[in-house]
Amino acid sequence: MPILSVSGLTVSFEGDGGPLPVVLDLGFDADAGEILGLVGESGSGKSVSCMAIAGLLGAAAEVAGDVHFDGIQLIGLAPEAFRPLRGKRIAMVFQDAIGALNPIQTISRQLREVIRLHRPEARGGNLARELLGQVGIEDVERCLASYPHMLSGGMNQRVMIASALVGNPDLIIADEPTTALDVTTQAQILDLLVEKQREYGVTMLIVTHDLGVVARVCDAAAVMYAGRIVEKAPVEIFLEQPAHPYSAALIAAMP
Ligand code: ADP
Ligand code: MG
Repeated sequence: MPILSVSGLTVSFEGDGGPLPVVLDLGFDADAGEILGLVGESGSGKSVSCMAIAGLLGAAAEVAGDVHFDGIQLIGLAPEAFRPLRGKRIAMVFQDAIGALNPIQTISRQLREVIRLHRPEARGGNLARELLGQVGIEDVERCLASYPHMLSGGMNQRVMIASALVGNPDLIIADEPTTALDVTTQAQILDLLVEKQREYGVTMLIVTHDLGVVARVCDAAAVMYAGRIVEKAPVEIFLEQPAHPYSAALIAAMP
């Protein structure tokens, strides 16, 4: 049983000459516990698809089609019905962690707020320390006392992942979670995500344009081209015998 089932997902934005579709009849399934890589070149519609799935596109976007998460139709779901899912069952990690964190609150304050929302029974300070330790932050006290701008990109990214893990979500949607980071930090963060998957079976949709990321962590890859999925396959098959010429071209261009 897939936990996430996307079909016929179409997203358009209002353009000069009428609505301009950027995601076209998108369809794929993710099984529970699967780490699925969504790959494709810049501008192919990966981020817009993630935002649509997570219900985060504003009124400027016209969204149609089906996104079933654990049997719940997310498209058209009322904001009050979506709110309890967000963070608790579906968490997002963005490429730009520093932009997604609140610049005028310490990490401690922000994490405690997320904990208060999604794990009200937990002791905020203790859980915040535990999670920051899990994401590989060494000086936890300094991190807690800092504002986002005082921390490196890698640290902010770790904080964002810690924050996404607070509610033990069933699905994490990570949009280029490591693109802005150096290679060593990238590898650490990706390994951490895999560890979480092994620990409690979280399903992950990881968007990337880097096939190295897919090879390192994903079970399967879905290839997006010009607003559509052109292929979804187990990662070994995708890397060794890609079915679609565009996938083959992506793989041939791998460094
Ligand atoms: P990717 O993440 O694969 O690089 P995106 O999903 O960000 O691509 O963008 C897909 C297309 O949608 C691009 O052509 C982009 O310009 C367009 N787009 C994204 N957001 C908006 C928006 N808010 N309004 C209009 N067009 C948008
Ligand atoms: Mg993007």
